[in-house]
Amino acid sequence: MGPTISISRRWALINCLSVITLGQVANSQQLPTNPPPDERFKADVLVIAPHPDDESTIAGYLAKAVLDEHRRVAVVVTTRGDAGQNLVGYEQARSLAEIREIETRRALASIGITNVFFLRAPDTFGQDLPDVLRSLETSNHGSSLGEAVRFIRLTRPEVVITMLPATVVGENHEDHQAAGVIATEAFDLAGDPTWFPEQVAAPEDRLWYGNLMEGLRLWQPKKLYYYTDASHLDFVKGKGPEYSMTAVSPSQHVSYARLAARELSFHRTQYGGEPAKALATNNLHDFEQPLAFVLAKSLVGGAVTGDIMERVGSGQIPFAPVRGYRPDDTPALSMELGEGWAFYRRFYPAHNLDIMPGLLSPELGVGGGQHFPVLLLLHNTTDKPVTFHLRAQLPQGWIVDSTSAQHSHPWPMSDFIAAPHDDFAVRIRLVAPRLEKSQWQTITWTADADGREIGPVSLRVYVGGQ
Ligand SMILES: [Zn+2]
Repeated sequence: MGPTISISRRWALINCLSVITLGQVANSQQLPTNPPPDERFKADVLVIAPHPDDESTIAGYLAKAVLDEHRRVAVVVTTRGDAGQNLVGYEQARSLAEIREIETRRALASIGITNVFFLRAPDTFGQDLPDVLRSLETSNHGSSLGEAVRFIRLTRPEVVITMLPATVVGENHEDHQAAGVIATEAFDLAGDPTWFPEQVAAPEDRLWYGNLMEGLRLWQPKKLYYYTDASHLDFVKGKGPEYSMTAVSPSQHVSYARLAARELSFHRTQYGGEPAKALATNNLHDFEQPLAFVLAKSLVGGAVTGDIMERVGSGQIPFAPVRGYRPDDTPALSMELGEGWAFYRRFYPAHNLDIMPGLLSPELGVGGGQHFPVLLLLHNTTDKPVTFHLRAQLPQGWIVDSTSAQHSHPWPMSDFIAAPHDDFAVRIRLVAPRLEKSQWQTITWTADADGREIGPVSLRVYVGGQ
């Protein structure tokens, strides 16, 4: 607006401001005060969801919080869903993104949520297996994190809810995991004045134009919850609250399952007319499963399975610094699964996510006959080069796809040299067997190096049946 404003209007504004200033000086009893944060954006709960429609997974709980408990809920969607399908039209890519933003706003409005923000990271469509690091790369991690921190400082939530940052058997989209990573990082950084300081600096002159400092306040949320799209939910039992979706909303006089189905029905590009049909025929089975959360951490105590809003109060709490990365005492020679698994092994303790390391052992879901890569990291912290002789224990029917191995160190070669104080990354492509029935199987690697036994490293794989 600055460059186009007319000179006469500028003078009018300056004169107007002078009058206000003189008025304040005249009344010396009335000290100037800062304006308060904008209450229209204050949230009790901030949801950070990956795609338009991933908020739908917890829409039953959000409906309860907003419509029956009168909580203020805001939603940030990290992508615009531009890689999705379109069941109702030809619009794709950016055009689809425009449509999906509106679908999400209408869906959330149906349960009383109007503060809906889009972080606008690209929607990743992975060709192989999901890897959170790929999504962090395409989303421009640092810039997305700055945005997520901004949304926390703007909405000042007591509670942040996001998706589980872990590799699970289920939909397990890498953008889902990345939203969980970015939301967790933002939870821990929004109260730290050394991160994105330009957001919390006082504006130069808020009553004039072109200010660059953002005037937000530091904010430390109190509780962090995860939800998951895993196909097996045994591991979340008892790790957080669970909500009945067949319960009837006292204010709406219908079940939360029905409110969730109605919320989903607005995502027509993704679900067509199916949710509307389920509503019309009262076939709500898919929406009636209990909704479970994992309490990732609470800075205000409370029971692990207690209500999400338990103990949150309304006062501000001090900044709670996390442990941060600390090198662990791994042996001089060691081996671990790479990709997201290696990252998460360091991420959980760094962010005080004490519940996470024991929650899931490394797991993966693949189709029968599917080719997929696994990365093994061989660590050498000694002062000399060390040869690792690698062995794999594969269940019956598994094969190693040697044709697609990396050129520089082709499999089935099993000896790898890790340089002093270096890692060697071995990429192995595996082919899952075609099984009659879906089942869990375990692959185990061990190695000999410098006369020592290294490992074992195990990966449990859910192989889909015919
Ligand atoms: Zn999604």
